[in-house]
Amino acid sequence: MAWAACHGSSASEAPANTNSKSTPALERAKPEPRVAPSGTPPEGARVVLLGTGTPVPDPERMGPASAVLAGGRAYLVDAGPGIVRRAAAAEALGHHELAPEQLSHVFITHLHSDHTVGYADLMLTPAVVGRRQPLQAFGPPGLTAMTRALERAYAVDASIRHAGKSPEQQPGYRVVTREIEAGEVYTDAAVRVRAVKVPHGSVEHAYAYRFDAEGRSIVFSGDTAPSEALVELCSGCDLLVHEVYCSQGVRTGPPSFREYHGSFHTSAQELAALATRARPGLLLLSHLLFFGCDAETLLAEVKSGYAGEVVVGEDLGVY
Ligand SMILES: [Zn+2]
Ligand SMILES: [Zn+2]
Repeated sequence: MAWAACHGSSASEAPANTNSKSTPALERAKPEPRVAPSGTPPEGARVVLLGTGTPVPDPERMGPASAVLAGGRAYLVDAGPGIVRRAAAAEALGHHELAPEQLSHVFITHLHSDHTVGYADLMLTPAVVGRRQPLQAFGPPGLTAMTRALERAYAVDASIRHAGKSPEQQPGYRVVTREIEAGEVYTDAAVRVRAVKVPHGSVEHAYAYRFDAEGRSIVFSGDTAPSEALVELCSGCDLLVHEVYCSQGVRTGPPSFREYHGSFHTSAQELAALATRARPGLLLLSHLLFFGCDAETLLAEVKSGYAGEVVVGEDLGVY
Protein backbone atom coordinates (compact mmCIF):
# COMPACT_ATOMS: atom_id res chain seq x y z
CA MET A 1 0.00 0.00 0.00
CA ALA A 2 2.59 2.48 1.07
CA TRP A 3 4.17 2.66 -2.35
CA ALA A 4 1.04 4.29 -3.65
CA ALA A 5 1.88 7.35 -5.65
CA CYS A 6 1.09 10.49 -3.75
CA HIS A 7 -2.15 10.80 -5.58
CA GLY A 8 -2.73 7.24 -6.46
CA SER A 9 -1.64 6.68 -10.03
CA SER A 10 0.61 3.71 -9.80
CA ALA A 11 -0.05 1.83 -6.61
CA SER A 12 -0.80 -1.43 -8.36
CA GLU A 13 2.49 -1.65 -10.22
CA ALA A 14 4.72 -0.60 -7.39
CA PRO A 15 6.49 -2.90 -4.97
CA ALA A 16 5.32 -3.18 -1.40
CA ASN A 17 7.32 -1.18 1.08
CA THR A 18 6.90 0.97 4.10
CA ASN A 19 6.65 4.69 3.68
CA SER A 20 8.51 6.16 6.57
CA LYS A 21 11.27 4.94 8.77
CA SER A 22 12.02 8.50 9.66
CA THR A 23 12.18 8.19 13.42
CA PRO A 24 11.33 5.30 15.72
CA ALA A 25 7.74 5.68 16.85
CA LEU A 26 8.62 5.63 20.52
CA GLU A 27 10.90 8.63 20.12
CA ARG A 28 8.11 10.64 18.58
CA ALA A 29 5.18 9.36 20.60
CA LYS A 30 4.81 12.08 23.16
CA PRO A 31 3.73 15.54 22.03
CA GLU A 32 6.03 18.21 23.30
CA PRO A 33 6.75 21.72 22.13
CA ARG A 34 9.26 21.68 19.32
CA VAL A 35 11.04 24.78 18.23
CA ALA A 36 13.28 25.98 15.47
CA PRO A 37 16.86 24.65 15.36
CA SER A 38 18.11 27.67 17.22
CA GLY A 39 16.30 26.27 20.26
CA THR A 40 14.16 29.33 20.81
CA PRO A 41 10.71 30.09 19.45
CA PRO A 42 10.78 32.61 16.61
CA GLU A 43 9.96 36.25 17.20
CA GLY A 44 6.73 37.36 15.57
CA ALA A 45 4.38 35.06 13.72
CA ARG A 46 4.88 31.36 14.46
CA VAL A 47 4.27 28.38 12.23
CA VAL A 48 2.92 25.17 13.75
CA LEU A 49 2.96 22.10 11.53
CA LEU A 50 -0.25 20.16 12.16
CA GLY A 51 0.40 17.47 9.56
CA THR A 52 3.61 16.71 7.69
CA GLY A 53 2.34 13.61 5.93
CA THR A 54 0.95 12.64 2.55
CA PRO A 55 -1.91 10.38 1.42
CA VAL A 56 -0.09 7.50 3.11
CA PRO A 57 -1.84 6.94 6.48
CA ASP A 58 1.23 7.23 8.71
CA PRO A 59 -0.02 7.48 12.31
CA GLU A 60 2.95 9.67 13.21
CA ARG A 61 2.30 12.21 10.47
CA MET A 62 -1.18 13.57 9.87
CA GLY A 63 -2.29 14.77 6.46
CA PRO A 64 -1.00 18.09 5.10
CA ALA A 65 -1.99 21.01 7.32
CA SER A 66 -0.12 23.95 8.85
CA ALA A 67 -0.96 27.05 10.82
CA VAL A 68 0.41 30.59 10.91
CA LEU A 69 -0.24 32.12 14.32
CA ALA A 70 -0.43 35.91 14.22
CA GLY A 71 -2.52 38.60 15.82
CA GLY A 72 -4.10 36.10 18.19
CA ARG A 73 -5.52 33.98 15.38
CA ALA A 74 -4.59 30.82 13.50
CA TYR A 75 -4.50 30.96 9.71
CA LEU A 76 -4.61 27.39 8.47
CA VAL A 77 -3.03 26.15 5.26
CA ASP A 78 -4.70 23.00 3.90
CA ALA A 79 -6.96 20.63 5.77
CA GLY A 80 -5.50 17.16 5.73
CA PRO A 81 -6.95 14.37 7.86
CA GLY A 82 -6.29 14.88 11.55
CA ILE A 83 -6.22 18.68 11.37
CA VAL A 84 -8.68 19.41 14.18
CA ARG A 85 -7.21 16.89 16.58
CA ARG A 86 -3.69 18.14 15.93
CA ALA A 87 -5.00 21.68 16.51
CA ALA A 88 -6.39 20.53 19.86
CA ALA A 89 -3.00 18.99 20.68
CA ALA A 90 -1.29 22.28 19.79
CA GLU A 91 -3.70 24.16 22.03
CA ALA A 92 -2.76 21.79 24.86
CA LEU A 93 0.87 22.74 24.25
CA GLY A 94 0.01 26.40 24.80
CA HIS A 95 -0.92 27.65 21.33
CA HIS A 96 -4.29 29.07 22.33
CA GLU A 97 -4.93 30.34 18.80
CA LEU A 98 -5.43 26.72 17.76
CA ALA A 99 -8.29 25.98 20.13
CA PRO A 100 -10.71 24.12 17.84
CA GLU A 101 -13.58 26.52 18.50
CA GLN A 102 -11.34 29.40 17.34
CA LEU A 103 -10.47 27.93 13.92
CA SER A 104 -11.95 30.39 11.45
CA HIS A 105 -9.61 30.88 8.46
CA VAL A 106 -8.23 28.28 6.05
CA PHE A 107 -6.30 28.60 2.81
CA ILE A 108 -6.48 25.50 0.63
CA THR A 109 -3.63 24.99 -1.84
CA HIS A 110 -5.46 22.55 -4.13
CA LEU A 111 -8.28 20.06 -3.98
CA HIS A 112 -6.41 16.75 -3.81
CA SER A 113 -7.95 14.54 -1.16
CA ASP A 114 -4.91 14.42 1.12
CA HIS A 115 -5.22 18.22 1.51
CA THR A 116 -9.00 18.30 1.96
CA VAL A 117 -10.14 15.10 3.70
CA GLY A 118 -10.03 17.09 6.95
CA TYR A 119 -12.10 19.93 5.48
CA ALA A 120 -15.43 18.48 6.57
CA ASP A 121 -13.92 18.06 10.04
CA LEU A 122 -12.87 21.71 10.00
CA MET A 123 -16.32 22.81 8.81
CA LEU A 124 -18.22 20.87 11.45
CA THR A 125 -16.23 19.93 14.55
CA PRO A 126 -15.25 23.46 15.66
CA ALA A 127 -18.91 24.48 15.27
CA VAL A 128 -20.04 21.53 17.38
CA VAL A 129 -17.68 22.60 20.18
CA GLY A 130 -18.63 26.26 20.10
CA ARG A 131 -17.30 28.24 17.15
CA ARG A 132 -19.20 31.54 17.05
CA GLN A 133 -18.18 32.84 13.63
CA PRO A 134 -18.35 31.46 10.09
CA LEU A 135 -15.42 29.54 8.68
CA GLN A 136 -13.73 31.59 5.96
CA ALA A 137 -12.25 29.29 3.34
CA PHE A 138 -10.00 30.43 0.50
CA GLY A 139 -8.88 28.16 -2.29
CA PRO A 140 -8.94 27.18 -5.95
CA PRO A 141 -11.94 26.98 -8.25
CA GLY A 142 -14.07 24.06 -7.14
CA LEU A 143 -13.80 24.89 -3.45
CA THR A 144 -17.31 26.32 -3.29
CA ALA A 145 -18.84 23.29 -4.99
CA MET A 146 -16.94 20.99 -2.63
CA THR A 147 -18.16 22.99 0.35
CA ARG A 148 -21.81 22.94 -0.67
CA ALA A 149 -21.57 19.22 -1.45
CA LEU A 150 -20.15 18.52 1.99
CA GLU A 151 -22.96 20.53 3.57
CA ARG A 152 -25.45 18.39 1.67
CA ALA A 153 -23.61 15.24 2.69
CA TYR A 154 -24.05 16.17 6.36
CA ALA A 155 -27.69 17.23 6.02
CA VAL A 156 -28.87 14.61 8.50
CA ASP A 157 -26.42 15.87 11.12
CA ALA A 158 -27.39 19.49 10.41
CA SER A 159 -31.11 18.80 10.65
CA ILE A 160 -30.58 17.44 14.15
CA ARG A 161 -28.12 20.07 15.38
CA HIS A 162 -30.04 22.98 13.88
CA ALA A 163 -33.47 21.80 15.03
CA GLY A 164 -35.45 24.75 16.32
CA LYS A 165 -32.65 27.25 15.61
CA SER A 166 -32.18 29.78 12.84
CA PRO A 167 -28.90 29.94 10.90
CA GLU A 168 -28.23 33.28 12.63
CA GLN A 169 -28.24 31.50 15.96
CA GLN A 170 -25.53 29.12 14.77
CA PRO A 171 -23.07 31.21 12.74
CA GLY A 172 -20.23 28.78 13.45
CA TYR A 173 -21.74 26.29 11.03
CA ARG A 174 -21.64 28.72 8.11
CA VAL A 175 -18.79 28.46 5.61
CA VAL A 176 -17.95 31.47 3.45
CA THR A 177 -15.82 30.49 0.49
CA ARG A 178 -13.71 32.54 -1.83
CA GLU A 179 -12.20 31.01 -4.94
CA ILE A 180 -8.88 32.72 -5.53
CA GLU A 181 -6.57 33.67 -8.37
CA ALA A 182 -2.88 34.49 -8.20
CA GLY A 183 -2.16 37.76 -6.41
CA GLU A 184 -3.19 39.17 -3.08
CA VAL A 185 -5.94 36.99 -1.67
CA TYR A 186 -6.45 38.25 1.89
CA THR A 187 -5.40 40.99 4.27
CA ASP A 188 -6.36 41.99 7.76
CA ALA A 189 -4.64 43.84 10.59
CA ALA A 190 -2.32 40.90 11.27
CA VAL A 191 -1.50 39.28 7.94
CA ARG A 192 -1.18 39.80 4.24
CA VAL A 193 -1.59 36.69 2.09
CA ARG A 194 -0.50 36.34 -1.50
CA ALA A 195 -0.77 33.36 -3.84
CA VAL A 196 1.04 32.16 -6.95
CA LYS A 197 0.04 29.35 -9.22
CA VAL A 198 2.37 26.35 -9.12
CA PRO A 199 2.81 23.34 -11.45
CA HIS A 200 1.36 20.14 -9.98
CA GLY A 201 1.11 17.62 -12.81
CA SER A 202 -2.37 17.51 -14.29
CA VAL A 203 -3.91 19.57 -11.47
CA GLU A 204 -5.22 22.72 -13.15
CA HIS A 205 -5.36 24.91 -10.05
CA ALA A 206 -2.64 24.56 -7.40
CA TYR A 207 -1.35 27.47 -5.35
CA ALA A 208 1.52 28.39 -3.07
CA TYR A 209 0.87 31.00 -0.39
CA ARG A 210 3.02 33.68 1.18
CA PHE A 211 2.08 35.15 4.56
CA ASP A 212 3.61 38.42 5.74
CA ALA A 213 2.81 38.79 9.41
CA GLU A 214 4.39 40.37 12.47
CA GLY A 215 7.66 41.02 10.68
CA ARG A 216 8.06 37.53 9.23
CA SER A 217 7.60 36.25 5.70
CA ILE A 218 6.47 32.64 5.39
CA VAL A 219 5.90 30.70 2.18
CA PHE A 220 4.04 27.39 1.81
CA SER A 221 4.69 25.52 -1.41
CA GLY A 222 1.65 23.29 -1.33
CA ASP A 223 2.16 20.41 -3.75
CA THR A 224 4.34 21.41 -6.65
CA ALA A 225 7.04 20.44 -9.08
CA PRO A 226 9.95 22.94 -9.06
CA SER A 227 8.41 26.37 -9.53
CA GLU A 228 10.05 29.58 -10.66
CA ALA A 229 7.08 31.54 -9.32
CA LEU A 230 7.76 30.04 -5.91
CA VAL A 231 11.42 31.11 -6.01
CA GLU A 232 10.27 34.66 -6.68
CA LEU A 233 7.54 34.48 -4.05
CA CYS A 234 10.11 33.57 -1.39
CA SER A 235 13.06 35.73 -2.52
CA GLY A 236 14.83 35.68 0.81
CA CYS A 237 11.71 34.92 2.89
CA ASP A 238 12.21 33.99 6.53
CA LEU A 239 10.68 30.52 6.27
CA LEU A 240 9.98 28.30 3.27
CA VAL A 241 7.79 25.27 4.01
CA HIS A 242 8.29 23.03 1.00
CA GLU A 243 7.15 19.60 -0.08
CA VAL A 244 9.82 17.06 -1.06
CA TYR A 245 10.42 13.47 -2.09
CA CYS A 246 13.46 11.31 -1.52
CA SER A 247 15.40 10.93 -4.78
CA GLN A 248 17.02 7.66 -3.71
CA GLY A 249 13.64 6.27 -2.75
CA VAL A 250 11.80 7.19 -5.93
CA ARG A 251 14.52 5.56 -8.06
CA THR A 252 13.57 2.13 -6.73
CA GLY A 253 10.07 2.47 -8.13
CA PRO A 254 9.00 1.67 -11.70
CA PRO A 255 9.46 4.27 -14.48
CA SER A 256 5.81 5.37 -14.36
CA PHE A 257 6.16 6.04 -10.64
CA ARG A 258 9.24 8.20 -11.23
CA GLU A 259 7.54 10.05 -14.08
CA TYR A 260 4.45 10.71 -12.01
CA HIS A 261 6.40 12.23 -9.14
CA GLY A 262 8.72 14.13 -11.46
CA SER A 263 5.67 15.86 -12.88
CA PHE A 264 3.74 16.42 -9.65
CA HIS A 265 6.39 16.89 -6.97
CA THR A 266 9.89 18.16 -6.12
CA SER A 267 12.85 15.88 -5.46
CA ALA A 268 15.37 16.57 -2.71
CA GLN A 269 17.98 17.53 -5.30
CA GLU A 270 15.58 19.82 -7.14
CA LEU A 271 14.61 21.43 -3.86
CA ALA A 272 18.25 22.05 -2.99
CA ALA A 273 18.77 23.93 -6.25
CA LEU A 274 15.52 25.82 -5.84
CA ALA A 275 16.21 26.83 -2.24
CA THR A 276 19.69 28.04 -3.18
CA ARG A 277 18.03 30.63 -5.38
CA ALA A 278 15.01 31.31 -3.14
CA ARG A 279 17.34 31.98 -0.14
CA PRO A 280 14.97 31.31 2.77
CA GLY A 281 16.19 31.91 6.31
CA LEU A 282 15.05 28.39 7.12
CA LEU A 283 13.97 25.65 4.72
CA LEU A 284 11.40 23.44 6.41
CA LEU A 285 10.58 20.11 4.78
CA SER A 286 6.98 18.90 4.93
CA HIS A 287 4.60 16.71 2.87
CA LEU A 288 7.39 14.17 3.19
CA LEU A 289 7.40 11.53 0.46
CA PHE A 290 9.98 9.12 1.85
CA PHE A 291 9.41 6.11 -0.44
CA GLY A 292 11.40 3.94 1.95
CA CYS A 293 14.11 6.47 2.82
CA ASP A 294 14.58 7.65 6.38
CA ALA A 295 14.54 11.29 7.47
CA GLU A 296 18.34 11.41 7.72
CA THR A 297 18.74 10.30 4.11
CA LEU A 298 16.18 12.81 2.90
CA LEU A 299 17.88 15.59 4.82
CA ALA A 300 21.32 14.58 3.55
CA GLU A 301 20.04 14.68 -0.04
CA VAL A 302 18.87 18.26 0.38
CA LYS A 303 22.01 19.31 2.24
CA SER A 304 24.24 17.83 -0.45
CA GLY A 305 23.16 20.66 -2.75
CA TYR A 306 22.07 23.38 -0.33
CA ALA A 307 24.25 25.27 2.13
CA GLY A 308 21.46 27.01 4.04
CA GLU A 309 19.67 25.91 7.18
CA VAL A 310 17.21 23.07 6.60
CA VAL A 311 15.17 20.83 8.90
CA VAL A 312 12.74 17.96 8.47
CA GLY A 313 9.36 19.06 9.78
CA GLU A 314 7.55 17.16 12.52
CA ASP A 315 3.89 17.25 13.45
CA LEU A 316 3.40 19.87 16.20
CA GLY A 317 6.78 21.41 15.47
CA VAL A 318 6.95 25.18 15.95
CA TYR A 319 9.11 27.22 13.59
ZN1 LIG B 1 -1.52 17.16 -4.63
ZN1 LIG C 1 -0.44 16.12 -1.45
